[in-house]
Amino acid sequence: MPELPDVEGFRRVAQHVEKRQVRSVQVCDAQVLRGVGSEAFRNALQRRYFAAPQRHGKWVLLPTAGAADSPWVLAHFGMTGSFEWCGHDVELHKHDRVVFDFATGQLRYRDMRKLTGLHLARGQDEVDELLAELGPDAQQIGAEEFAERLTRTRRGVKAALMDQAVLAGLGNICADELLWRARIHPNRATTELSGDDLDGLHREMRAMLRDAVRAGRVPDDASWLTGHRDEPDPRCPRCSTALRKTRVGGRGTLWCPACQHA
Ligand SMILES: [Zn+2]
Repeated sequence: MPELPDVEGFRRVAQHVEKRQVRSVQVCDAQVLRGVGSEAFRNALQRRYFAAPQRHGKWVLLPTAGAADSPWVLAHFGMTGSFEWCGHDVELHKHDRVVFDFATGQLRYRDMRKLTGLHLARGQDEVDELLAELGPDAQQIGAEEFAERLTRTRRGVKAALMDQAVLAGLGNICADELLWRARIHPNRATTELSGDDLDGLHREMRAMLRDAVRAGRVPDDASWLTGHRDEPDPRCPRCSTALRKTRVGGRGTLWCPACQHA
């Protein structure tokens, strides 16, 4: 499931469209359009020029150039979505749902499960409205605001980290990796974390995201917790203790009972 590092990778793919004019928009499957029909979507975007793509949490934002009410495409990738940049001669993939055509190639929104999709917004105000529920981006948030938002309500720290209204961008894999690095038990109550715990968590989040963004995903190297997720009998890469697999908020959670204290 795409999380901040993956979505940052999709933003980089979308940089192909910056300053490029949309020649046509092909909607192969209108189910991925949210709150807008195929024709309105096509008409709003055809012949427009895209500005620089942005990212907030797990969203990629594609503004078009022009007046203040120029359209934006807002993309969410759900469980299985991606942006692909393809040459004109590359055959459509069966999960290519929307194709933006440019003189230089095609940006394709590909998604198997169609749980989310593409929104159209008119100007910054509508963008803000659509994303109003989201907290600050996990890569941008400062230590002080991070601590304040995380401890607003008493609940398990993993659930709070994954709540997009608290901060935007972390999912199951990032949250597990980060808690393991910071040596904090996933169910520990946010309100019981010390100032040092919160500082450490913020610091590890910044470091983890920096490395993962560079890789375009959370790396599955042996030195990362994520590298052991799919092993039948995984051991902690730091202390070799057998890792535990539990469920937290319905999500498969991997943690080390020796390193991560409750
Ligand atoms: Zn350990």
